Amino acid sequence: MKSDITKENIEEYMTLQRSSSFCDYCQNIQPPRAYHCASCNACIMGKQYHCAALGFCIGENNQIHYLNYLFVSIVMCTYSFGSLVLAQMLSGNF
Ligand SMILES: [Zn+2]
Ligand SMILES: [Zn+2]
Repeated sequence: MKSDITKENIEEYMTLQRSSSFCDYCQNIQPPRAYHCASCNACIMGKQYHCAALGFCIGENNQIHYLNYLFVSIVMCTYSFGSLVLAQMLSGNF
């Protein structure tokens, strides 16, 4: 049986074996720090968690956008609630 592992590439092969694992779902080599998501049916790099509300995974490619989204949501909630309280106070209902 012919193998493609030679004395020259054995080091590289061993590194790949150590750092990577095989994803049974994707039928592909999974890079280090990647995790398979059953909902997205894909391996996500640096996966943190699957956001059910948004319908996709938060990984290292989109986490900055997700944090931005969270920040804007919090600011907008505070703003709208604050305006509501202020409007009530100004009209003397408080
Ligand atoms: Zn996968
Ligand atoms: Zn996902």
